Amino acid sequence: MIINHDVVIVGAGAAGLYAAYWSSTKADVAVISKLFPTRSHTGAAQGGIGSALGNEEEDHPLWHWYDTIKGGDYLGDQDAQKILTYDAPQTIYELEKLGVPFSRTKDGKIAQRPFGGHTRNFGERPVRRACYAAARTGHAILHTLYENCVKQNVNFYNEFQVLDLVLTEDKSKVLGVVAYDLLSGETHTVHAKVVVFATGGAGRNYAITSNCQANTGDALGIFLRQGLPLEDLEFVQFHPTGLAGLGILVTEGARGEGGYLTNSNGERFMERYAPTVKDLAPRDMISQCMYKEVLEGRGINKTGRICNEDYVLLHLEHIPKAELIKKLEEIVDFATTYLGIKPWEQPVPVMPTCHYYMGGIPTDSDGRVRRSHKDGDFVEGLYAAGEVACVSVHGANRLGTNSLLDLVVFGRRVGLHVAKNVDAVKLGKLHDDADKPLKDVVVALKASTGKERAGQLRKELSEIMMTYVAIRRTTDGMSKARDMVRALRVRAMDLGLDDKGEVFNTDLMEALEVGHMIDYSLALIEGAVTRKESRGAHLYMENESFDAPSLPRDDANWLKHTFAYLKDDGTIDLQFRSVYLIHEHPEDGWSPELMEKMKPKVRKY
Ligand SMILES: Cc1cc2nc3c(=O)[nH]c(=O)nc-3n(C[C@H](O)[C@H](O)[C@H](O)COP(=O)(O)OP(=O)(O)OC[C@H]3O[C@@H](n4cnc5c(N)ncnc54)[C@H](O)[C@@H]3O)c2cc1C
Repeated sequence: MIINHDVVIVGAGAAGLYAAYWSSTKADVAVISKLFPTRSHTGAAQGGIGSALGNEEEDHPLWHWYDTIKGGDYLGDQDAQKILTYDAPQTIYELEKLGVPFSRTKDGKIAQRPFGGHTRNFGERPVRRACYAAARTGHAILHTLYENCVKQNVNFYNEFQVLDLVLTEDKSKVLGVVAYDLLSGETHTVHAKVVVFATGGAGRNYAITSNCQANTGDALGIFLRQGLPLEDLEFVQFHPTGLAGLGILVTEGARGEGGYLTNSNGERFMERYAPTVKDLAPRDMISQCMYKEVLEGRGINKTGRICNEDYVLLHLEHIPKAELIKKLEEIVDFATTYLGIKPWEQPVPVMPTCHYYMGGIPTDSDGRVRRSHKDGDFVEGLYAAGEVACVSVHGANRLGTNSLLDLVVFGRRVGLHVAKNVDAVKLGKLHDDADKPLKDVVVALKASTGKERAGQLRKELSEIMMTYVAIRRTTDGMSKARDMVRALRVRAMDLGLDDKGEVFNTDLMEALEVGHMIDYSLALIEGAVTRKESRGAHLYMENESFDAPSLPRDDANWLKHTFAYLKDDGTIDLQFRSVYLIHEHPEDGWSPELMEKMKPKVRKY
């Protein structure tokens, strides 16, 4: 069947819904989501959304901008980072008016808590910048936006999985998407003037992850196979406090509320590494320090090995029980349910967990998708927003609370840009058999007698990525990983299904997902092994031994974005694009003092 709408948005997290909300003021909008909208991963975001409102102490967007630049280890585009931080206050107030129930200060203002890497006055000390709704910030935003979209008559296609993108032959213009209806097993082509991808994160390709089951990066695979590039995919954030062995997230808000980490000597080791901000250092630093503590034998079990049995401790026992439950209810719940630990009495075992993709589909600051690494080369009508996009505001490491902010600031900007321009966009001509490639794949998979199973390939992939391409990376390890993932790609050609049915065939979906996961993992590995420096979340060790030195950050050669293209033979071609640094654009009228502050320098906390 062919379905027609002016605008089709793929993904119903906060980014997709905000884009839908604003574009529906001018156009007929459809949102397609493989999950029911309010089950999107945005609903799992606990800790907060950053904005320099200055409600609890003095704060300025300028300081937020500076922290975001430094937090991203200078790889972010500074013009886009300025938009993120300066658009933040008005976006938060708009969310408040739409109905988000933020927690309040005693005098009724939006309450704010400290978060890692957010400081006052260019790094002096931590600042209270994260707005929150208890420990359900994402949940509150997601539900509010969904209700507002329903009110605006946005059309929802739930439990539809988008599996292909339709472009003109020269890839200069978008024509629509192809989706699979999970309930009926039918394939539909959605024909539209504008397509927005807001499909969220891709962290399920790591064995230990805080990401939901749906975060399989389908869009990343689809874009690569269409010959479109992905930017900075080698930067994957590991959040320091996953429940040990499980990866379930303990929000950074726990440290914002006074929680701290110790090793087997009972030492608050972060005081050694980041004397000013301590346990509120950025995530890349804390995760790397935790690995170091364990490898040097100061993990709680003193194994000296990164394995599921060793960890460090997160202390919350000094916070009164009533306060813990009020401010961090989910965390109390997770610790008691999954580990049988009462966090008001005992410390919580934690280790880093794969959390966030800084890289993704390259866009400009209105969310328009870049067709290549060259300036001004866009795909007409195609947008991306949210975690799947790379604007790039997070550079090499995202600060906590800046993702929810990214979703709403850029989701909103995409919606506004679409509303303003959609009338001028011409509907492209769709070929009759636009869904044929997908239909052929489905038929072939159902007919296949292949011996491989998606679950097994996915398990192996996530273990390879966790072992060789996680927090500490080496040339040998990553080369090994590349060979192993290439072998998985070959094995995936022999995939078979146990379920050949039509209705809710999740076996079929998993088979298609694992193919995408393999492809974007290859792009990730290629970027990582080629980028011969350490920057943000990418820690490149000289060799495998645990005390090996890491390569230094190399601004002369590597202060640039990678653009990965998938070639027909399954190998990856890397191209590069320069980073926007304000001191290189004096024509924009920045003061010399400001330009000096924002220049790349050694990152200390
Ligand atoms: C446990 C956890 C806690 C977090 N806490 C915070 C926090 O406190 N503060 C913060 O700033 N950030 C936080 N983050 C990060 C942040 O929540 C995510 O980056 C963000 O929610 C992603 O939102 P999104 O709108 O891009 O996509 P998501 O909310 O992930 O939604 C993706 C949507 O795309 C749809 N989709 C995906 N693939 C397809 C397909 N092929 N076809 C159709 N639909 C598809 C899904 O159905 C879903 O609707 C947290 C992340 C996690 C995992």
